[in-house]
Amino acid sequence: MNYMKVKGSIVVVSGPSGSGKTSLAREVCSELGDKAYFSISTTTRPKREGERDGVDYFFVSKEEFLEDVEKGYFLEWAEVHGNFYGTSKIQINKALEEGKIVFLDIDVQGHEAVRRAYPDVVTSVFVTTKDKKTLIERLEKRGTETEESIKVRMINALHEMKKIPEYDYLLINEDFNEAKKFLTSVAIASLIKTSKYDIDKFIEYWKGNK
Ligand code: 5GP
Repeated sequence: MNYMKVKGSIVVVSGPSGSGKTSLAREVCSELGDKAYFSISTTTRPKREGERDGVDYFFVSKEEFLEDVEKGYFLEWAEVHGNFYGTSKIQINKALEEGKIVFLDIDVQGHEAVRRAYPDVVTSVFVTTKDKKTLIERLEKRGTETEESIKVRMINALHEMKKIPEYDYLLINEDFNEAKKFLTSVAIASLIKTSKYDIDKFIEYWKGNK
């Protein structure tokens, strides 16, 4: 008897740009190997130097994005910092059926939508720096943002921080390796959340009345 509602789990990682959430989620996911799947989002944001289509994002035009919205291709989509971002549905459902830990690097709006769609399966982690100064320094060092874009991202960072109570975990990313350990633990534990089980079915199975 199958007493698991869903075999896999979803780990949502959100946080301000520059918090290190993407590197953290990608590294943890790659270390987990076959057990995990990193969802690549679709975006209308221009490609940054060094980014690759199909690896970092699927880069599309606004028209293409809106067509995909019409087709119902996205599990969730949102406008973030003036660009569209969306999570495609098909690969996520496949990875969940295969029992994988699905990593979603999405913003706070995406988190709300995914939690609504998969209330039993989502575990969420908000990643941030220890203070605002560190965040600005990291964004400046990254060198991929204009001064204007950094300003927009700082304003958005504060709005996002106010949503921390909606998350299961708050990860203050001071030491990358420490943060990686925490995220790995959370990801593995997400597979055994009680909400993922149909407890009545489990008890029937456990008693032997299959
Ligand atoms: P960036 O432009 O720095 O790559 O990402 C900007 C923000 O968009 C980040 O907070 C990132 O987590 C979020 N984001 C990336 N992909 C998606 C997505 O598919 N859906 C949503 N809602 N947010 C996303």
